[in-house]
Amino acid sequence: MNLLEYQGKELFRKAGMPVPQGIVATTPEEVEVAARTMGRVVVKAQVQAGGRGKAGGVKVAGTPEEAREVASRILGMQIKGLTVEKVLVEPALDIKTEYYAGIVNDRKSKRFVLMLSAMGGVDIEEVAVTNPDAIVKIALDPAFGAPDYLLRQAVYDAGYDPAYHKAIIPVLRQLYASSVANDAMLVEINPLVITGDGKVVVADAKVSIDDSALYRHPELAEYREESFDNDMDRQAAEQGLTYVHLGGNVGIIGNGAGLVMQTLDVVTANGLKPANFLDIGGGAQAAQVSKALNMVLSDPEVKAVIFNIFGGITRGDEVARGMLSVQEGMDIPVPVVVRLSGTQEEAGRKLLEGSRFIPVGDVQEAAQRVKELVTGV
Ligand code: GDP
Ligand code: MN
Repeated sequence: MNLLEYQGKELFRKAGMPVPQGIVATTPEEVEVAARTMGRVVVKAQVQAGGRGKAGGVKVAGTPEEAREVASRILGMQIKGLTVEKVLVEPALDIKTEYYAGIVNDRKSKRFVLMLSAMGGVDIEEVAVTNPDAIVKIALDPAFGAPDYLLRQAVYDAGYDPAYHKAIIPVLRQLYASSVANDAMLVEINPLVITGDGKVVVADAKVSIDDSALYRHPELAEYREESFDNDMDRQAAEQGLTYVHLGGNVGIIGNGAGLVMQTLDVVTANGLKPANFLDIGGGAQAAQVSKALNMVLSDPEVKAVIFNIFGGITRGDEVARGMLSVQEGMDIPVPVVVRLSGTQEEAGRKLLEGSRFIPVGDVQEAAQRVKELVTGV
């Protein structure tokens, strides 16, 4: 689950980090009122996307009227396909230096990896490609945490100005504590700012929480609603489906993650492009079938759908009855090829004959049928 900047900053503030006191607003009027108490302000678009600065979503304003004007331009603007509905208003910073600091949970090494760079503010992914030596990486063993000697080594190696090492090290310690306390996969400060009067300030926050640990954090539930960067993911989460958007034009639905993965492989091997991953789990009841079909068909790219059902405990005839009941209640504008296999497969296929669904016996056949239907060959 990805957090918006203001939410990440709330967690960072709780951990004791130096975060500006900001106000979240949804209208230019609110921004103007907030700016009256702050003087010069920065108005920042709150969307699930990086590079907001470059996209025109971060603007400094000198007066409350200007803040209102800037906010009216940022609110409603599109950044990477997302509409800005909220802004964060903070006292503007007199920025002298911008650093980068982040901690990722690295599954491969089973360590946290602290990453620091003196080249902050800019796109860190770009620095990683063009100037990898400018990013220092230090592995932190979860059994030992983030001891000061390692943090000292890290800020030194990163080339942070030694005058600020003493002020920055506690921030890194708190960043680590915040990451662990919230079961984060990633915590990032970019930029970590040194101001003209020598203060260290957390000017941006990016936090990604491990979805599998969310049950341990009921206090983070309120962040869920704003954590999606597209409508399909939101819809899937609401419906309790495991859905991953892949961008192709063949919709894929199956009962069981392994079966869906195999279907993706077969579809790809036939020169087709899967639109998504969608596992409806065991049972394959009519309600699940209908939710899944709705989900896949709401993707305008989808030109055909493969339903891959392996019947073990799930009976083919029951799945077929479920599908037939779905067909009555919804409009299905593209061909849906159904591979039914296992318990009662023949009975199931017989039921589907003459219906909206095209029954086949194996997944290779399903892929070929879809290929004919989509490409016309
Ligand atoms: P991002 O572009 O989505 O990463 O958003 P950031 O919060 O990092 O803002 C982009 C850039 O805006 C920063 O790197 C700063 O250089 C610049 N900026 C200018 N003035 C301010 C300010 O007062 N506060 C903050 N947070 N950023 C500012
Ligand atoms: Mn940033």
